[in-house]
Amino acid sequence: MLQRKLLSVFLLYAFLLPTVAFGQAAAPASYQAPKDVIDKIKDEGTNRSQVMQTLSYLTDVIGARLTGSPQMKRANEWTRDQMAKWGLQNAKLEAWGPFGRGWTLKSFDAQVVAPYGIPLLAYPKAWSPSTKGAVTADVVYFNAKTDAELEKYKGQLRGKIVLISEPRSLKAVDAALSSRYTDEELTKLAAAPNPATDAPRPQQATPSPEQAQRFQQQQQQRAMAGKIMNFVLQEGAAVLLDNSRLGSGGTIFVSGATVAQDVPANPQDRPIRLSPQQKEAEAKMLPQMTVATEHYNRLVRMINQGEKLRMTVNIQAEYNDNDPMSYNTTAEIPGSDPKLKDEVVMLGGHMDSWHSSTGATDNAAGVAVAMEAVRILQTLGLKPRRTIRVGLWSGEEQGLFGSRAYVKQHFGEMQDTSAAAGQPAKRELVKKPEYEKLSAYYNLDNGTGKIRGVYQQGNAAVAPIFRSWLEPFKDMGATTLTLANTGGTDHLAFDAIGLPGFQFIQDEIEYDTRTHHSNQDNYDRLQADDMKQAATIMAAFVYQTAMMDEKIPRKAMR
Ligand SMILES: [Zn+2]
Repeated sequence: MLQRKLLSVFLLYAFLLPTVAFGQAAAPASYQAPKDVIDKIKDEGTNRSQVMQTLSYLTDVIGARLTGSPQMKRANEWTRDQMAKWGLQNAKLEAWGPFGRGWTLKSFDAQVVAPYGIPLLAYPKAWSPSTKGAVTADVVYFNAKTDAELEKYKGQLRGKIVLISEPRSLKAVDAALSSRYTDEELTKLAAAPNPATDAPRPQQATPSPEQAQRFQQQQQQRAMAGKIMNFVLQEGAAVLLDNSRLGSGGTIFVSGATVAQDVPANPQDRPIRLSPQQKEAEAKMLPQMTVATEHYNRLVRMINQGEKLRMTVNIQAEYNDNDPMSYNTTAEIPGSDPKLKDEVVMLGGHMDSWHSSTGATDNAAGVAVAMEAVRILQTLGLKPRRTIRVGLWSGEEQGLFGSRAYVKQHFGEMQDTSAAAGQPAKRELVKKPEYEKLSAYYNLDNGTGKIRGVYQQGNAAVAPIFRSWLEPFKDMGATTLTLANTGGTDHLAFDAIGLPGFQFIQDEIEYDTRTHHSNQDNYDRLQADDMKQAATIMAAFVYQTAMMDEKIPRKAMR
């Protein structure tokens, strides 16, 4: 799942886009698999599951899967080969891009060496440049919130190791780190209004004075952060340390390196932002790492007490430049009905991860569950009428890039039509022939928690279909349908062009508190029974979608 910050940017864009309203189509005749078929799916998924074996290989053996890295490519190839071994057809890699360069950490070492040795819990940020060997230098706490304060550091930072963020106060963790949906919460979710019809978006929302002020503050903070990054780069700092933005007790949340962005000479011009995976960004980044909050806070407190700290940092990483393209893995169970086999039902999740652990809950879980779902169907020899296709995406963490590229290549995209004189430009859906061939896409990317239901994404017509499909899984805890939207992951790529894309409702477990984007996102945080349940339900949903006389109803785009 995408970082919440990025997610809010997407939501903002969705908000600012010209209104794309969705009407509702009438529900087609559903298909209900016979009880013995559902029982077989349950039996295979529960008693002969391979989902944890798949997860161990993806996480323990292949490891972190940063988009563009050799490990990501290895995961692409391994999942392709594994699905081919299970008997799936057309197992292949599909290129998209260019994405940019990969990044592989070779070695890392960081500690305080004076006044005495203090080992640190820390990780380099993805795409951080290497240090020039082991750097031993004085540590400076950079505490500037205004231009005047910034000036005080002029000439003070060359060759120094710089603490760039503020300390973050921690409170005792008195709430459970792990949670599951209560009946009450699910009831509330089920009663959510239809985002497509019940809450029409105003064309141009006028922000309240508080919102406007908050927005202005955020803009100022962002502008200041941008200035600081340029300043420390120009001043020649050796290494930047920042504070884990969340977590405690050894959990560190680490993502991509920060790039110093050029400020346009004309403030009216839109800045061209560089991403850390772009080659041109390398000269605009300092070596940088994220430190566990308890350790970061202590360093700041020691400096504030007047202590002179020295640290040694050695970041050795390699950029992978030989292939700027990235890849999704796809594989199929071909359809058996001569009239319907050209139509497709898709399922999947993103395979790329951040790098400080092994991306177990974000999102080897979704990948392994989708693979297991098709393994169950393949093993049982069920012959779906439509083709079932798995899509394992990359570049999700940087902005749903892999699934968006796939949707654009296969199904279509929203394009700006040129505006007539005096008229605003319009967004228009430009379809590919495959657009009419897709029934639905099912995504799993909310961690290790079992499936509790489905987000309908404003599609009211699917309710009777999904309700009957959930019925045999009530005893496994999956009961809830909500009209509500959910975001932050790859079903949005399909939904954005009016194709039925769904994400399942999953128990939270430790997703936000501990695992997603942290150094603790490892195999041991995966819940085996939850993963088996999810694969079983996904298999049944995908199979039944492939067996219907008609496709899953779509939200009409107006
Ligand atoms: Zn994520």
